[in-house]
Amino acid sequence: DGQHPHVFVILGASGDLARKKIYPTIWWLYRDNLLPANTIFYGYARSKTSIDQIKEKCKPYMKIQPNEEEAYEAFWKLNHYLAGGYDSRSDFEKLNQELVAFEKGPIANRLFYLALPPSVYEAATVNIRHACMATKGWTRIIVEKPFGKDFDSAQKLSDHLASLFTEQQLYRIDHYLGKEMVQNLMTLRFGNRIFNPTWNRDNIASILISFKEPFGTEGRGGYFDEYGVIRDIMQNHLLQILTLVAMEKPASCQPDDIRNEKVKVLRCIKPLTTDNVVLGQYVGDPNGEGEAKLGYLDDKTVPEGSTTPTFAVGVLHINNERWDGVPFILRCGKALNERKAEVRVQFKDVPGDIFEGKPKRNELVIRVQPGEALYVKLMVKTPGMAFEMEETELDLTYGSRYSNVKLPDAYERLILDVFCGSQMHFVRSDELSEAWRIFTPLLHQIEEEKIPPIPYVFGSRGPKEADELLSSNNFTYTGTYQWKPINAN
Ligand code: NAP
Ligand code: NAP
Repeated sequence: DGQHPHVFVILGASGDLARKKIYPTIWWLYRDNLLPANTIFYGYARSKTSIDQIKEKCKPYMKIQPNEEEAYEAFWKLNHYLAGGYDSRSDFEKLNQELVAFEKGPIANRLFYLALPPSVYEAATVNIRHACMATKGWTRIIVEKPFGKDFDSAQKLSDHLASLFTEQQLYRIDHYLGKEMVQNLMTLRFGNRIFNPTWNRDNIASILISFKEPFGTEGRGGYFDEYGVIRDIMQNHLLQILTLVAMEKPASCQPDDIRNEKVKVLRCIKPLTTDNVVLGQYVGDPNGEGEAKLGYLDDKTVPEGSTTPTFAVGVLHINNERWDGVPFILRCGKALNERKAEVRVQFKDVPGDIFEGKPKRNELVIRVQPGEALYVKLMVKTPGMAFEMEETELDLTYGSRYSNVKLPDAYERLILDVFCGSQMHFVRSDELSEAWRIFTPLLHQIEEEKIPPIPYVFGSRGPKEADELLSSNNFTYTGTYQWKPINAN
């Protein structure tokens, strides 16, 4: 497609996502010469704004280096803005005319990014379909979460989109699928002999997939309160990681071979029930500083007495031959002690132990963020004369092993994938409906019964009941492992 015209249209160009994520991402892709040469960008929203104003609002997020000024100005020259309504056919026709004027030659492709609140998805997509489809090239639509609120609403949205576009035209973004270590799971599992033979119920005790955030709602809890942490993080990001950790080897690396395996593993999971869940909500820490003094309910935008969880652990079971009996523990929360996303694969205790119970479990840790790393905890003889043993690690820290490699932002990879037509790292509609099948009964029960979440203090590791659920699901924490960074001898 190299020389053909491409137009990248951002619907909702005046908004938060556009400013913080989309404009910066297309700028970095442009700067690094990764986009087709003849690409222009169209912002569209109702606001009577201009490219100059959008440029101003984006500035804090663009990370412009001193030697990039010229390219930066050239980038904005390729940007256009058109004000119009999402439900106005004639405004979309106007947009179409402007795009047509640019699209010289036999082939021209279009991408539409729906950076809009879900309430206007329907109107906007109908208008794209009727007034703005590419007539001499492909049209691709990028859709952002939330993909519905539960099984029925997600189905309605999927049906709506399917009535307008083919699945090949739809790119549902889950930005976790753009992260280096998440993309690495396939290679790690299927490109190595060492892990695969042990990747099963005979050897693995439990798998913990965590997402932790050290800040609360920061006064913007209104949106969050409608969704809660299960919809915001667990049902999408953590479940996507689970599928890549647990799926069988796909027939090939073709996107649909992979997505078929992901769906298959989801189909083996029963809906989550309350006895396999711990829910929490943060309260202020009187000794904390700034935001940490405030609890979730102190956020003025959160409805009084809200029972929306800001922390959740859920234990899923995959009923297939590989995983029968192995708990997959998903855990996520806000206002915790650290920022971190990781997978912990905990192996079983050594059978027939001859070391009087001293060996600790092997654990493979895949740290997604911050500081990408892969390490395996294992036992060695204590170095020196002694015949004791101790825990140590095989450690692959990306920052030191690949110190000169710049890892791209997740959105950069994903938007480039859309240009390339690769759907491997996007969520297919049947994956989505399986994901909602697993979580919807629990979500409805939480809301109908207003199940009270357990309070935990801002900056803590979450409620102690969460650790109890972990240990009753064969995840062991000993506290004996000592990490010693290599260059801190
Ligand atoms: P936003 O700023 O609230 O909305 C984007 C634009 O949509 C606004 O600038 C506004 O433009 C228009 N809009 C807002 N409310 C509207 C309404 N009630 N009716 C019609 N138009 C309305 O949203 P956002 O934060 O950019 O997010 C966009 C989408 O991405 C949402 O679906 C969101 O859930 C999702 N998302 C956002 C983030 C994030 O970091 N912000 C992260 C992940 C996913 P005009 O008034 O100029 O038309
Ligand atoms: P660890 O000390 O054995 O801890 C394992 C996990 O248990 C912790 O991450 C913590 O996670 C959880 N935990 C802490 N207190 C607990 C408690 N009272 N009850 C139950 N669970 C508890 O091993 P580690 O965290 O893997 O490693 C220790 C440190 O070394 C970490 O800071 C790690 O980043 C660092 N390290 C770095 C590298 C590298 O950069 N390549 C390699 C190895 C180790 P939650 O709070 O999330 O539950």
